[in-house]
Amino acid sequence: MFKSGFIGIIGRPNVGKSTLLNGILGEKLAIITHKPQTTRNRIMGIRNADNAQFIFVDTPGIHSASTPLNRLMVRTATETFTDSDILLLVVEAGQAVHPEDLPIIESLKESGTISFLILNKIDLIRKEQLLPLMDAYRNLHSFAELIPISALTGEGIPLLLDELWKYLPEGPQYFPDDMMTDQSERFLAAEIIREKILLLTHKEIPYSSAVVVDAFKEDEARNLIRISATINVEKESQKGIIIGKKGTMLKEIGTRARVDMEKFFATRIFLELFVRVRKDWTKDPRMLREFGYNE
Ligand code: GDP
Ligand code: MG
Repeated sequence: MFKSGFIGIIGRPNVGKSTLLNGILGEKLAIITHKPQTTRNRIMGIRNADNAQFIFVDTPGIHSASTPLNRLMVRTATETFTDSDILLLVVEAGQAVHPEDLPIIESLKESGTISFLILNKIDLIRKEQLLPLMDAYRNLHSFAELIPISALTGEGIPLLLDELWKYLPEGPQYFPDDMMTDQSERFLAAEIIREKILLLTHKEIPYSSAVVVDAFKEDEARNLIRISATINVEKESQKGIIIGKKGTMLKEIGTRARVDMEKFFATRIFLELFVRVRKDWTKDPRMLREFGYNE
C-alpha cells in the first residue's frame, strides 16, 4: 500500500520546527538560529520511502504579531492548519504547558485535522519530566499521538515517521523522486545569507533585513556558481551596521554564507553582496511581495 500526504509543522517561534524538518530530510534545507522568527515562508520538504511520500511543510512560528510582516508570517503558518493531512504541533519539553500554545491548540481543534504533539528538545530535560507534561497536553486536546523527540540529535525521528505512516491517507507519489523541496535555488541561497545576518547582528537588524538573489549563474567551465544578492534594510543606519567598519561585517556575512552554500550546492561559489535601503519595507505590501513574502 502506498501512502502520501502533507504534514504541517507548526508551533511557537523557536521550538525547533525547522530543525525537525532538516533532521527528517538529513539536509539543511531550512535555516535555523536561536532567534525567534527565523522562518518567514512555508518551506516544503519531501521525504521518500518505499511505501510513502511524506511532504513536510515547515512554517513560521505562531505568535501575537504586531507588524505587517509578522502578521503575514502568522497567516502563512495558520493556512497550514486546513491544508494538511496531519499537523505536528511542536512544543518544547519542559516543566509545563506554555501559555502561548493554548490559542494554537484552539485552532487545531477548530481545524479538525489529525494532530500529533511533538515534545522536542528532550536532550535538555530529565525523562521523568515527560509524563506529567504529556498528561497536561493530553487534557487540552485529543492528540492522535504524543511523541518525544530531539530534533537536534535525531532521537525519536524514526518512531515519528512510523507513526505518521499509520495516519497518512492512501495516495499517489505527488512529486518526483529527486525533488526535495518546492523552493528555488535562489530562495535557498538568499535564506543562507539571511541566516548569517541573523546570527551576526542584533536588535532590530535581523527583523529589518530581506535578501534577494539578483543573479544565480552556473559557470560550468569553471565549475562554480556565481551568485549576486542584495540585502535590503529599512534605514540608512541599518545599512551602516550591515556593512560594518571598513566593510568587515558584510565580508563576514559573505564568507560564512559562501562556506554553507558550497556545502549545500556541492560546488564552488562566487558570492557578491550589496546592501540597499528600502525605507520601511516591512510595512509596505508591495515591497513585501517583491521580497517574496506573499499572501
Ligand atoms: P523554529 O523557530 O521552531 O523553526 O526553531 P529552530 O529550528 O530555528 O530552532 C530554534 C533553536 O532551538 C535553535 O537554536 C536550535 O538549534 C534549537 N533546537 C532545535 N531543536 C533542538 C533540540 O532537539 N535540542 C536542543 N538542545 N536544541 C534544539
Ligand atoms: Mg523555523
